[in-house]
Amino acid sequence: MEKIYLKDYEKPAYEVKTIDLEFELHDTNTLVKSSMRLSRKGKENEVLFLNGEELELISIFLDGRELHESEYELSESGLSLHQLPKEFTLEIHNAINPEANTALDGLYKSGGIFCTQNEPEGFRRITYFMDRPDVMAVYSTKVIADKKAYPVLLSNGNLFEKGDMDDGKHYAIWKDPFPKPSYLYALVAGDLGCVNDSFRTMSKNEIELNIYCDKGNEAQCTHAMDSLKASMKWDEERFGREYDLEIYNIVAVDSFNMGAMENKGLNVFNSHYVLADADTATDTNFMGIESVIGHEYFHNWTGNRITCRDWFQLTLKEGLTVFRDQEFSSDMNTRSVQRISDVKSLQERQFVEDASPTSHPIKPDAYIQINNFYTATIYEKGAEVIRMIHTLIGEANFRAGMDLYFKTFDGQAVRTEDFIWSMQEASGFNLEHFKLWYSQSGTPEVNIQTAFDKDTRRFSVTLTQSYLSPTQIGQQPYLFPFKLGLLNKNGQENSLKLASNENQPLLDKGVLIISKEEETFIFTDIEEEPIMSLNQNFSAPVKVHTSYALEEYAFLMEHDKDEFNRFEASQTIASMVLHKLIDTIEANGPLTLSDVYVNAFSKVLLDMKMDMSLKADSLTLPSIAILMQERKVLDVEAIYMARNFLKREIIRSLGADIQAQYTSLNHSYEYTLDSASMARRKLKNTLLSYLGALKDETVILNQYRNANNMTDRLSALSILANSREEGKLEALNDFYERYKDNTLVMNKYLAVIASSELKETPMNVKKLLEDEVFDIKVPNLVRSLIGTFARNALHFHAVDGSGYSFIADKVLELDKINPQIASGLAGVFKDYGRLNEKAKVLMKSELEKILSTKELSKNVYEIVSKILA
Ligand SMILES: [Zn+2]
Repeated sequence: MEKIYLKDYEKPAYEVKTIDLEFELHDTNTLVKSSMRLSRKGKENEVLFLNGEELELISIFLDGRELHESEYELSESGLSLHQLPKEFTLEIHNAINPEANTALDGLYKSGGIFCTQNEPEGFRRITYFMDRPDVMAVYSTKVIADKKAYPVLLSNGNLFEKGDMDDGKHYAIWKDPFPKPSYLYALVAGDLGCVNDSFRTMSKNEIELNIYCDKGNEAQCTHAMDSLKASMKWDEERFGREYDLEIYNIVAVDSFNMGAMENKGLNVFNSHYVLADADTATDTNFMGIESVIGHEYFHNWTGNRITCRDWFQLTLKEGLTVFRDQEFSSDMNTRSVQRISDVKSLQERQFVEDASPTSHPIKPDAYIQINNFYTATIYEKGAEVIRMIHTLIGEANFRAGMDLYFKTFDGQAVRTEDFIWSMQEASGFNLEHFKLWYSQSGTPEVNIQTAFDKDTRRFSVTLTQSYLSPTQIGQQPYLFPFKLGLLNKNGQENSLKLASNENQPLLDKGVLIISKEEETFIFTDIEEEPIMSLNQNFSAPVKVHTSYALEEYAFLMEHDKDEFNRFEASQTIASMVLHKLIDTIEANGPLTLSDVYVNAFSKVLLDMKMDMSLKADSLTLPSIAILMQERKVLDVEAIYMARNFLKREIIRSLGADIQAQYTSLNHSYEYTLDSASMARRKLKNTLLSYLGALKDETVILNQYRNANNMTDRLSALSILANSREEGKLEALNDFYERYKDNTLVMNKYLAVIASSELKETPMNVKKLLEDEVFDIKVPNLVRSLIGTFARNALHFHAVDGSGYSFIADKVLELDKINPQIASGLAGVFKDYGRLNEKAKVLMKSELEKILSTKELSKNVYEIVSKILA
């Protein structure tokens, strides 16, 4: 299949100045009229190619004259026109079928709502257009629809006019004054409920804010509206960015491929990231809403006003906007807790991707299907790269760099180089070497060696970088900030002084700048051999290796002043213990547990001064996904056995303390949504997960029965779903009956069943595929049931290959419905290279089965062929 390369980029031959669209909405036959004002940029006789897929062309008019079929060429992928004048108007009429659009790409019908998703290449499924981000035009839209069925008619920009028509129809005209690429175009029509509010900007403009949802759900939009107003205020205060239209609309829909979409003035959201109340949403859901509402709002400047020249630049808007939403969440909540959650997600998803056959740099140089590049690498690693720039140049310079970026590139489609130029220009810091983070893939590793000389009171630290990638060769050492602390025996940090003959840079607050393959830093005036706290606050997205034993990590887990590293030490020590247990299981040896770990765990457990959220994170064992990464050959069952053994040993040694602390946290508090209450619930439910290792499930069942919020209820349910006792049935049945009409909550139910370790899980999942709450056309439901099962390593890697075969069949079934969702699911096969020989044979035959299927989408082909290569 055809690959597209960054090096082949060419400027568009024509410019589209304005485009006026008119839609007559109909379920199966929507008429689209487009009138464009174009001008030629390139040489005479330059062909105009307009992308168009699955469109029915009706007629074309050039400056008012209808063209004959012989005057253009029509293909599966678009329309070519020749011999065009320098300036002209092109009018095109075509028809589309929104109801048949199960790919949810372009204009489609979801529930009773018409809506669009055009990023990256959906607009070509609406009408013929130069569907590429560097073609920025001014849009106007007239929507015509039946007034009774579709009382709400929305598009980008400001409402210009609306009125009634004959035959019970009505219309609305929307005008967006800001030039934008086609991927930011949006249209929505439906019979929707609405929550209305307003925001006064820093220059005293009154903005109308609306959140639209299914009727009856209005009360669940409160948190989303509060988050929107908080985002608008935050972007003014932190970055000086103000909103620029008279109106800001958000629409929540149930069927959506992504989380949300930042269309200019008209965001379309997966309802998962809008609707929430105490009875139906967990604390994690509430946090997710705040973060995604913020993310899409922040795109108005980083993405919409300044957009990407081509899709290879995707991280220009995504990495930067994820950084901005992470900073927003940090400012709104507890910074260290936010950092831990962001890094955990990076380590669990991006590190895995970067070690797999689908590893790619944050700025890829080739793709077959750009939809496959909306990845943790482009987004989360992209945000870490921005964060490193922030650390290297400091907050004030970073803000100056952002100001310069907006001033210089507003209204343009630009490249990552233009962003780096702004940062370099504003700070004077040379970022040339740093740019390797954009072109190299793989997670760098840093090895640490030390020497201490008591007589000269010098402590030297040697860092050695390695930077292998599974998909690249010839890589160079990176430049990155590396923050460290040197702790003495009392846990106090030494002040850091580099030996005077060193000209290596040491930024404020102990940040070293690393740029060579091997470097030694000598610290002076160190009285006793210190214990290092390395890569504090996760200053660089690297893996760090030391020769430290359990004792040193136990010390850091108790004493580190850097809260992120205190957490990281808890994960490192637990990982060391768990990997030793896994090795022992694989060698059929007797399982024993080190006192060092139990003591360290106990000290954190009994530390009553510690932030409860941080404590909960530190007492949580590394996930199966994290543990799997470090195994050369996967023995999934051994990993589960080791983790369950460790949990049982912890409860055996510390059960009384865990039980007592759980009880003290489990008073019947009134439910509130502040950080302190969320932290208390998080700690309580972490402790509950240990109590789940006990034989007696009364405590857990009681929490389920008495819960006054979804966080507590779902935590108890997840534990019960892994038990064999009667309480399981009671809770699962109750949950199903209570919420079966609420599809967002049913997603949670499906995920709980699909993630269970019990052996009947595959059977339960198959049963749920037939249940009335499930619908394979709704991406959220697919992700919750099939996606969760695919990430349930115990069952996915079942020794008889049944997990592989089941998921391969689902990939093929989904590929016919929604290729984007199918290729997302196909990504779970990426551990192929690390399977034992028997499992490899089983998975290989399934991957080959997929590849040999006729009419396979580009999406799935690209992922599966990379895995097999
Ligand atoms: Zn985004």
